[in-house]
Amino acid sequence: MDKDALRRKYLAERDKRLRTDGNEQYVRVAGQLAHYLDDPYTARAEREPKTDHRTVVCIGGGFAGLVAAARLREAGIADVRIIEKGGDFGGTWYWNRYPGAQCDTASFVYMPLLEETGHMPTEKYAHAPEILEHCQRIGKQFGLYDDVLFHTEVVDLRWDSGKSQWIIRTNRDDVFTAQFVVMGTGPLHVPKLPGIPGLESFRGHSFHTSRWDYDYTGGDPAGAPMDGLAGKRVAVIGTGATSVQCVPRLARAAGDLYVFQRTPSSVDVRDNHPTDPEWFAQVATAGWQQRWLDNFTANQTGGHAEEDLVMDGWTDLARRVRAKARTLAPQDRTTAAVMKAFEDSDFEKMDEIRARVDAVVEDADTAQNLKAWYRQLCKRPCFHDEYLQAYNNPHTHLIDTDGKGVERITETGVVVAGREYEVDCIIYASGFEVGTSYARRAGYEVIGRDGVTLSDYWADGMRTLHGIHMHGFPNAFMVQPTQGANLISNIPHNIVDSARTIAVAVKHALDGGFGEIEVTRPAEQAWIDLLLAGPGRVLGSPDCTPGYYNNEGVDEGPQARLRVGYPAGPTAYFEYIDSWRESGDFAGLEFR
Ligand code: NDP
Repeated sequence: MDKDALRRKYLAERDKRLRTDGNEQYVRVAGQLAHYLDDPYTARAEREPKTDHRTVVCIGGGFAGLVAAARLREAGIADVRIIEKGGDFGGTWYWNRYPGAQCDTASFVYMPLLEETGHMPTEKYAHAPEILEHCQRIGKQFGLYDDVLFHTEVVDLRWDSGKSQWIIRTNRDDVFTAQFVVMGTGPLHVPKLPGIPGLESFRGHSFHTSRWDYDYTGGDPAGAPMDGLAGKRVAVIGTGATSVQCVPRLARAAGDLYVFQRTPSSVDVRDNHPTDPEWFAQVATAGWQQRWLDNFTANQTGGHAEEDLVMDGWTDLARRVRAKARTLAPQDRTTAAVMKAFEDSDFEKMDEIRARVDAVVEDADTAQNLKAWYRQLCKRPCFHDEYLQAYNNPHTHLIDTDGKGVERITETGVVVAGREYEVDCIIYASGFEVGTSYARRAGYEVIGRDGVTLSDYWADGMRTLHGIHMHGFPNAFMVQPTQGANLISNIPHNIVDSARTIAVAVKHALDGGFGEIEVTRPAEQAWIDLLLAGPGRVLGSPDCTPGYYNNEGVDEGPQARLRVGYPAGPTAYFEYIDSWRESGDFAGLEFR
């Protein structure tokens, strides 16, 4: 392997895609394009505006809000309301019902509260309908349907210092109050469209993958054939994780399928299989899911683990790095040597993934174009056993744009390199806003003590204790990974853990008759200092081909330094926060 040549190739492929407009290249879905956000799944029910008070309000009914509310109920706090913009629980799994959707991290660690609900995932990588149903199961089991506002979006969240409570305003004219608010608004939920000239001029049918139009395509999320596409010419724009999962189903259904690619995904083996109930009965003994979570995290991020319970593509890379590092004599295991072992493993892994393309895809040009030339964690790794195969279908056409993206959309089709591909339908697999501000993505500003907005407070970067508490924003909690464990390969692990921390803190406040919880400024600063002393960001290198992991290749400035996790890594963070909770001292928080 000529490593220098590979490094040069990676950089050349990155350079082809660098552009100065970064996140600005995408179009905000609003105004004339707002119909792309309409809910195709549930009719909106009319209701009277709320003007009441709750002990806790959770914003978001996806994994984060659901699990936080469940943990609060478990702790005996009954008065919990969820606000959710979708028509049911599920968050990303409510919206993403595209054909073929399934989790990419093993169900046993990805699906939250399996032990509490007694659910056995039916497959190693469960499909979307099962995950949506699991969200509903959590909702039912913990009584969360009793107090939920669906199809409701918060538009303003304001701290009332006099009454020590939050005032919540929504797009349904609700104005109510809550002592505590838990924000589980999710990282990737605002669909974005590519800024392709002419996008709004297309006269055929079009939709975003997160609002799948089964009325048009026929079929259903459970996998019924999409009869509506028979004989139709269908374009898919984008080849990220969503596209990789829906292209095989579309290839089966469409008359002709045109997949427009700017950057290929790396597509490793999936190896999904049904769960054997006998095996599961042996696994699912008391405390099993936490053991699996800890094991996956340790394997994935360099913690200590005797065995690898999950054994998949996520843990494979880590296993390889460890094996390589072990070949070094103990005195030679310097950071530089381990980083080199990491790079070597990565080269080997990506070579295997590229060789797989050659082995599967019959047409040599198509195979060449489907090869990813970057390190595996530069972009979201994908895993699938039917995606590459779909290109052997004579009606599936990969239209590679050589890193430039689609040139133009016309009334009748999609243009690349001057050639128009006439289509009946365009499906945008173009992803979700990531690099935009919290307030823009959440849809509301958080106005804390003395009228300070969260946007202003975070103007120079995120500031929290544990990724949960913000000074100046009493009784408000975030449920998300950054500045906590920052475990990217299994976001639910972060969420389940944060939910536990929040429930313990709220219970302590209520039991002790405290009106407010707030992180002190010194404690928040000490946490930031600790984060800044760490090795920096794991993902998002500027050497990578642009994508949302590295802010589309545009330098974010010093803010990026704060988008990190606990310096000693996720396993160490979970151990740390466990003892923080168990000590009962709530170090860093003030209860008053
Ligand atoms: P992504 O943002 O990953 O992909 C968007 C795609 O659109 C990219 O291929 C991008 O190309 C392409 N694109 C953007 N602009 C243009 C253009 N002008 N012309 C042509 N192509 C263009 O979105 P996804 O919805 O695929 O995935 C988002 C995230 O959601 C994933 O990374 C993952 O975290 C999560 N997800 C998880 C799944 C799971 O767990 N099972 C399944 C699906 C998604 P380029 O790469 O060049 O920018």
